[in-house]
Amino acid sequence: MTLARLLHERGHEVRVFEKEKETGGLCRSRTGDGFTFDTGGSHVIFSRDEAVLSFMHRVLGENREVRGRQTKIFYKGRYVKYPFENGLSDLPKEDLFLCISEFVKALIAAEKGELPPPKNFREWMEQTFGKGIAESYLIPYNEKIWKIPPEEMSCHWVEGRIPRPPVEDVIRSAIGIETEGYTHQSVFSYPRLGGIEALVEAIAEPVREFITTDAPVTSVKRERGGFLVRAGGEEINADRVVSTLPLPALLPCLEDVPAGVREACRGLRSTALLAVCIGLRGQVPPYSWVYVPSPEIGLFNRVSFPSNYSPAVAPEGHASILAEITCMREDPLFSAPDGEIVSHVLGGLAKMGILDDPEKVVSTAVERSPFAYVVYDLGFLEKIAVVRGFCESRGIHLVGRFSQFEYLNMDGVIRSAMDFVERTR
Ligand SMILES: Cc1cc2nc3c(=O)[nH]c(=O)nc-3n(C[C@H](O)[C@H](O)[C@H](O)COP(=O)(O)OP(=O)(O)OC[C@H]3O[C@@H](n4cnc5c(N)ncnc54)[C@H](O)[C@@H]3O)c2cc1C
Repeated sequence: MTLARLLHERGHEVRVFEKEKETGGLCRSRTGDGFTFDTGGSHVIFSRDEAVLSFMHRVLGENREVRGRQTKIFYKGRYVKYPFENGLSDLPKEDLFLCISEFVKALIAAEKGELPPPKNFREWMEQTFGKGIAESYLIPYNEKIWKIPPEEMSCHWVEGRIPRPPVEDVIRSAIGIETEGYTHQSVFSYPRLGGIEALVEAIAEPVREFITTDAPVTSVKRERGGFLVRAGGEEINADRVVSTLPLPALLPCLEDVPAGVREACRGLRSTALLAVCIGLRGQVPPYSWVYVPSPEIGLFNRVSFPSNYSPAVAPEGHASILAEITCMREDPLFSAPDGEIVSHVLGGLAKMGILDDPEKVVSTAVERSPFAYVVYDLGFLEKIAVVRGFCESRGIHLVGRFSQFEYLNMDGVIRSAMDFVERTR
């Protein structure tokens, strides 16, 4: 949507084809029983990129609530401040000792030059945070979200995304002096009305008439120096094609894809998402969201409280909870009956002390997103280079989370669109 808008503003003629009946992709929101939920999991607006952040704020205008992040990790029955390394004093004493001593050992080893470059994500976590923090929180949490062991994951993507904690902050947090980590997200915003989809709607507003929904792209062919695109029963000629659809959905639309490229694309891993939406009478804890590393509590890795982002997403006297479960698309869990998934989550929320009485629940829904998170396994860089190289050779540009096949948040996707437009004359 950003791409279409910016190209349109520069005088280009654009057409957008969306497979679903509604636009928005992972940033769709749905309202039912008076509750608005983000169907692709809980989304909030934040960025280190000033230009992108101000673009998002400008398009939303008055429709924006601002919140200070109140985020926790549910650990051994306690609500520990997030990020974990900034919440060490909330831990039981023995765990605190283990985390600090292992952090110091890792630091000394690094200073002495004893640490070889990490070969995988597990080694990176152990070397950066020490085995205490890694084994108590980071490893179980990451196993839960990515669905592959961290030793099978690459660590090329973590620098900058998971910040290295300054030693002073770790010591301060251990002795109970307040510190903040991940500060570019410590204040975030959210649409007052309409859920996160309101942001996409606001971006799309000037280009609505050029968008066709219920129109899956089925074929993209080179023709007379340009492209012939077939989508939803329509055929159009285009000078350029930018794909924002997932690579595994793009490749079948192309002709004569070499077997090696198809195989590389098949090997790109990603998870699907179940977003479990719960509306209830009464209150929820005052948190923005809570990470849940422990498998004993439930399959969900995160629980958020959308009614704490904006009072307008739940009816008066009510509140909302959104639990996120990742799984592989082919996992039977992805198509398990809604009732089973909801009761599993309600059981977990009871263990966390969030829901004391199931009678308070007035609305439930389960939303499924087939493409949710890119998983960076050890072969990722090789496989993606093959697929990108092929798309480039066909003159197709890639912009977007599953089109670039990168762990991009909304700001990263908008940045890619802005950069593309900047390069396009
Ligand atoms: C659980 C979760 C939480 C997140 N939280 C945040 C957050 O707090 N803040 C943040 O900034 N970002 C967040 N993100 C990331 C954010 O959702 C993505 O960065 C963003 O939505 C990606 O946009 P996109 O347009 O690239 O891709 P998508 O939203 O995946 O859109 C791709 C579109 O392509 C369409 N499509 C597929 N096949 C075809 C076809 N053949 N023809 C036509 N159309 C097709 C799909 O229907 C879809 O609409 C989160 C993501 C997840 C999974």
